[in-house]
Amino acid sequence: MASETHDRPDTTEGPVLEVTGLRKVFEGRHGAQTVAVAGADFTLSAGECLAVVGESGSGKSTLARSVLRLIEPTAGSVVYRGTDLVGLDKRALRRTRRHLQMIFQDPYASLHPRQTVYRLISEPWRVHRDLMPDRPRDRVAELLDQVGMPASAIDAHPAQLSGGQRQRVSIARALGLKPDVLVLDEPVSALDVSIQAQVITLLMELQQELGLSYLFISHDLALVRLVATRVAVMYRGEFVEFGPTSEIFERPQAEYTRALLSASP
Ligand code: ADP
Ligand code: MG
Repeated sequence: MASETHDRPDTTEGPVLEVTGLRKVFEGRHGAQTVAVAGADFTLSAGECLAVVGESGSGKSTLARSVLRLIEPTAGSVVYRGTDLVGLDKRALRRTRRHLQMIFQDPYASLHPRQTVYRLISEPWRVHRDLMPDRPRDRVAELLDQVGMPASAIDAHPAQLSGGQRQRVSIARALGLKPDVLVLDEPVSALDVSIQAQVITLLMELQQELGLSYLFISHDLALVRLVATRVAVMYRGEFVEFGPTSEIFERPQAEYTRALLSASP
């Protein structure tokens, strides 16, 4: 039990993440309601890349945020290796959630502009003290190397970096917490097309190397086809289709999936 807060919970069998009946309803003015996520069910297996695709407004980001409880789900459960994140108190949530890290579309969202790269990557270790390395600066340099950044970037501020570099730094920051699930919400959509492929290649290499599981959110079907093992197609808050990537692309069942595929280049 002593290593409980250090290591992954010792559950090697079954899915890494089991999401059941996850629902998010936003309450608007005058009793108006938006059902952003109608009740999602899925599992994420170790080492897989599960993609969620859908047009803008279909509920992908809300799903991602609800999975991590960055926003409070209206209903449902999110079981990470036997622990339901829904219902955990703040402390327990923080402890469990470090195993699941989120990468946002806009890396600025997770990188404070006034902090140096060193500070940004090392900051979470102050909260998760058990992860504090003996030589934090060396460890940061190592993480930078792992995401293809020069060690000289360690004292830079986000504004001095390119968009692609900023996303690499946010990936390094996440890796510093030794996660085993990454929730990636359109991780390359804000980047120049020429840079997108480089960051995707990095993400795929890291997944292999570290055995990470990805919940990969994207509206880019070509990209999803390339990276995903399974695909959930989301439309108006619901999964209208869910299956292995080849099935979805070669034998789409839902009307909406067919329309989506024929609309994409
Ligand atoms: P996607 O990421 O697929 O573009 P979102 O999850 O951002 O979709 O949005 C899904 C729906 O939920 C949209 O109708 C959006 O307007 C609504 N929504 C998202 N966030 C909020 C919020 N904080 N308050 C109210 N409605 C929201
Ligand atoms: Mg979104």
